Amino acid sequence: MYKFTCLRCYNCNSVIINLPESEVEKLNGLTFQCECCDYLNLLSNSRFIEAAKENLKSICSFS
Ligand SMILES: [Zn+2]
Repeated sequence: MYKFTCLRCYNCNSVIINLPESEVEKLNGLTFQCECCDYLNLLSNSRFIEAAKENLKSICSFS
């Protein structure tokens, strides 16, 4: 049985993703935008941290 990991926004604490641990590991290093407050969360070591400025730049160049 999968063990689910619930990841909450670093800023407002609302749930952003709820996935099995093995799936969360694949997403490490990606940045997620909170639908609730638009805060950018960086997934690092299977938990959310504040997105660093260099990551924000990579998002800006994407659009
Ligand atoms: Zn949020």
